[in-house]
Amino acid sequence: MINFNIPPFVGTELEYVKKAIDNQKICGDGEFTKLCNNWFEEKTGTNKALLTTSCTHALEMAAILCDIKPGDEVIMPSYTFVSTADAFVSRGATIVFVDIRPDTLNIDENLIEAAITPKTKAIVPVHYAGVSCEMDKILEIAQKYNLKVVEDAAQGVTSTYKGKQLGTLGDYGCYSFHETKNFSMGEGGALLIKDPENAEQAEIIREKGTNRSKFFRGQIDKYTWVDFGSSYLPSDMNAAYLWAQLEKVDDICNDRLASWNRYYNGLKGLADKGLIELPVIPSDCEHNAHMFYIKVKDLEQRTALIQYLKENGVMAVFHYIPLHSAPAGKKFGRFHGEDKYTTVESERLLRLPLYYGLEAETVDRIIALVEKFYK
Ligand SMILES: *Cc1c(COP(=O)(O)O)cnc(C)c1O
Repeated sequence: MINFNIPPFVGTELEYVKKAIDNQKICGDGEFTKLCNNWFEEKTGTNKALLTTSCTHALEMAAILCDIKPGDEVIMPSYTFVSTADAFVSRGATIVFVDIRPDTLNIDENLIEAAITPKTKAIVPVHYAGVSCEMDKILEIAQKYNLKVVEDAAQGVTSTYKGKQLGTLGDYGCYSFHETKNFSMGEGGALLIKDPENAEQAEIIREKGTNRSKFFRGQIDKYTWVDFGSSYLPSDMNAAYLWAQLEKVDDICNDRLASWNRYYNGLKGLADKGLIELPVIPSDCEHNAHMFYIKVKDLEQRTALIQYLKENGVMAVFHYIPLHSAPAGKKFGRFHGEDKYTTVESERLLRLPLYYGLEAETVDRIIALVEKFYK
């Protein structure tokens, strides 16, 4: 059986986890957490990067930092993972979903403005499959209406838009290091903070509402409870696992891109015949090969293809029941405008296996199976 996903493992993880244990510092903000935070700050150029326990929690922190209150509205696509909405629902917000673009499956930037009301507080673009949303337009709207922008860049670590790293364009950027993402620590994430003025509050929220981060830096003599907060910092053992992968960032990126390009070129014939559609990467975007998907004719054909692949030992999956049609989506949100693409496109999408270490022969075998299905 060819798995859909295998968690990334580069080989040095155990050595670093052992080092964290030998350091006798396995709680948060030890050696490896600092290495990772600094790495993201240098790599992305953001003002502040903080590892968190998940991307969901990074989004929650962003919602607190944006001062989201009951009754506020937050605009996002419906075609996304539940966490994007959950984080804002937890602050009492109403979610306003708008339609996606059929090419990138990202929020349609041209539909955002019409969904804005006096209650709107933030826009949450999701960079689907690690391919950037049309950020210039989104940032322009946010500025015009004085809204916050929180990037759900869970899938977009190392991807760029006009040369800039995803997660650094909005006020806050949220990364995921779940085992299904390009770089992993089991469960984990990071919050990127653009404005230096918000960094201190972010540290306080992450450390149970205390100014312990300042204390550790020797900037104050004792630490105390200064504001509302929670516990959003991961164990240094998890950070050690991630650090091993950050040291191999190019290996991981190149390996995934090679598989992605092999799929793309191999399936181009079927796309040229109009039997399937392939992902679209706008010219302003460099992507990180987070996933390889194809779009088939409809739900029925997708179900048949998944079944066919399974019978032939290949696990392929679909995902995202649009949030606005889920029970919680109906309770906490509403769809603004027409659902022209969200539902139909979500029913056509099929993800093929893609992970670090996926072999070229395996990709070829999967391509051959998809071709055979269409014969
Ligand atoms: C994976 C993912 C999340 C959640 O990440 P966790 O680290 O598991 O909390 C949020 N949004 C998107 C778009 C994702 O793909």
